[in-house]
Amino acid sequence: MLKLIKADLHIHSCLSPCSDWDMSPKKIVQRSVEQQLDLIAICDHNTAENVAATMREGDHQGIVVLPGMEICSREEVHMVTLFKNAEDAMEMQHFIYKHLSGNNQPEVFGHQVIADEHDQVLGENPRLLIGATGLSLMNIVKKTHDLGGISISSHVDRPSYSLIGQLGFIPEDLQLDAVEVSFRMPLEKARIEVPGIEDYPCITSSDAHFLHDIGKVWTEFMLGAPSLEELILALAGKNGRHIVN
Ligand SMILES: [Zn+2]
Ligand SMILES: [Zn+2]
Repeated sequence: MLKLIKADLHIHSCLSPCSDWDMSPKKIVQRSVEQQLDLIAICDHNTAENVAATMREGDHQGIVVLPGMEICSREEVHMVTLFKNAEDAMEMQHFIYKHLSGNNQPEVFGHQVIADEHDQVLGENPRLLIGATGLSLMNIVKKTHDLGGISISSHVDRPSYSLIGQLGFIPEDLQLDAVEVSFRMPLEKARIEVPGIEDYPCITSSDAHFLHDIGKVWTEFMLGAPSLEELILALAGKNGRHIVN
């Protein structure tokens, strides 16, 4: 039995330096429920430290939260990576931290707040999370797949930090699972204007940094359940699972 699942698969928490303080695990989940989303993903820059708390709050409020990360490659291209469980995301984070250097300057880049599901601040992440990792796009996609996750090229319609903006094309041997179009461009327009994306499953996500942006745009899927396993089937168009819009 398949169900229509409304998903916003790219949301930043207060751990991203460019994100609002209000983006706590609890408030993100509350807002997502208000927006009638069935599935969300937390994707902070180069870190997954607020993922487990948001997943616990999601359980509590009855919405599925996928653990993810928005990784910046050495080509300065953003890539949304999603995992089945928090353990896999933490393993990816461990790998990313080995290839990420520098310290954050909160007064310049913003605070990087680690919070629990009760809105308690647990501390700040001292790393330069907004920086680029030393990892190539190929490397990021390979490691993500080795961990059973998926890689989605972020905001491909944007000039900055996107595959098209940085490289001008999508490398054929990059095993992307999907491409993401931002809220700024309707999917139909992007399919015509952004070179090469028609060869990939296309989704749209809010890339929310503020509570009011959550669910601003979303993607609908026909899935057996709101899970990464089902999402993988939908992106591949298998077993009747598919992207609706
Ligand atoms: Zn980005
Ligand atoms: Zn983002």
